[in-house]
Amino acid sequence: MTGITGRCLCGAVTYSFGEDAVIWQGHCHCESCRRANGAGIVSWFGVQKDAWRWTGAEPRAFQSSAWATRWFCPTCGSAMAYRSDKLPDEMHGLAATLDDPGWYKPQAHFFHAAAVDWLHVEDDLPRFVDGGKTLETDV
Ligand SMILES: [Zn+2]
Repeated sequence: MTGITGRCLCGAVTYSFGEDAVIWQGHCHCESCRRANGAGIVSWFGVQKDAWRWTGAEPRAFQSSAWATRWFCPTCGSAMAYRSDKLPDEMHGLAATLDDPGWYKPQAHFFHAAAVDWLHVEDDLPRFVDGGKTLETDV
């Protein structure tokens, strides 16, 4: 089986998915992602939920809002994945946990309205004020 794989810091929690299941790739600036990942910007990719496989130790789930679940490694604490009831067919993985982070090709910035002012990303990718509906240039 060919697939894209990733793991947590200690290596206990692992995952895989088929590359053809990838829906989108992009950076999130929202406060929840910043806090959950301890980072000023968090780089995600969306995969068809049915294509996502946990292949190692069982991750622990945390309900981070009324509609969202975040998974992390119970041993080392690495954030591993996200799922929202608002996007029921998707599983979101973290680019920083990929075995080959060079595979990652971000396409946009999301929730850029919440971006911190001490981090300057100088790319030409589209910047959405929200989850992907409204471009910053249209506000
Ligand atoms: Zn771990």
